[in-house]
Amino acid sequence: MKKGKKLYEGKAKIIYATSDKNLVIQYFKDDATAFNNQKKSTIEGKGVLNNRISEHILSNLNQIGIKNHLVKRLNMREQLVKLVDIIPIEFIVRNIATGSLTKRLGIEDGTVLEYPLIEYCLKDDKLGDPNISREHILAFNWLDAIQLDLIDKNLKRLNDFLLGLFRGVGIKLVDFKVEFGFTHESGKNKIILADEISPDTCRLWDSITDKKLDKDRFRKDLGDLIAAYTEVAKRLGILHEQSNVSAVNVTKLSSIKKKSK
Ligand code: 5GP
Repeated sequence: MKKGKKLYEGKAKIIYATSDKNLVIQYFKDDATAFNNQKKSTIEGKGVLNNRISEHILSNLNQIGIKNHLVKRLNMREQLVKLVDIIPIEFIVRNIATGSLTKRLGIEDGTVLEYPLIEYCLKDDKLGDPNISREHILAFNWLDAIQLDLIDKNLKRLNDFLLGLFRGVGIKLVDFKVEFGFTHESGKNKIILADEISPDTCRLWDSITDKKLDKDRFRKDLGDLIAAYTEVAKRLGILHEQSNVSAVNVTKLSSIKKKSK
């Protein structure tokens, strides 16, 4: 599949056209940003790890019928994905209170929620991704009630799946953010899961120690982000136990694994 011109560049990924009008290439950058772009850095190897972890999760989602944009991983940093019109809403699911929820509502950090909480944020950096309600989504016609109900149903199933996947490898799924988009396939406006699911978009705590294995290591200056993401990848069985945690070795390892396929 030939890589065409750049269509879009976000904070952590770039989208390129391909010779097929319905498919694009999603490139994972090493850039890390937080607090609405106020904090920025480049962390070598992050894109490689997110590419692998997101591929692993999204390819498993097909088994439970959650349709998503992934076609296949192409190489260390790129995936072939379906072109979608991204819905300008961040869909957040929370199992444990932390982050913006605790700040906004004064809930104690680490409170286990009675049941998974779904929140919606408008995807708009200039406005700081403000929280919105179901009524906003319907009133501004960003989605109709049937579409939103379908997404909510998928969010609950996705949460159940991810909780189990991570629990099985000694990780608590605290919360996560996902995005959905409209495909153009066969002229129908079908909604599918897009973007990525990785330690950049989830909060993941070690089940025993509560050690943070996600992007909060960058947000809160905890260090060792690559070691934490590598730990997630190893536990999911994506990287072998003996692999060293340094970014350079992650990069080398990925290319060796790819060649040996
Ligand atoms: P919070 O609202 O507490 O900051 O984030 C809730 C969850 O959604 C966390 O898992 C966080 O990583 C994810 N999240 C929310 N907004 C964004 C965003 O703009 N980018 C990324 N990568 N993750 C986000």
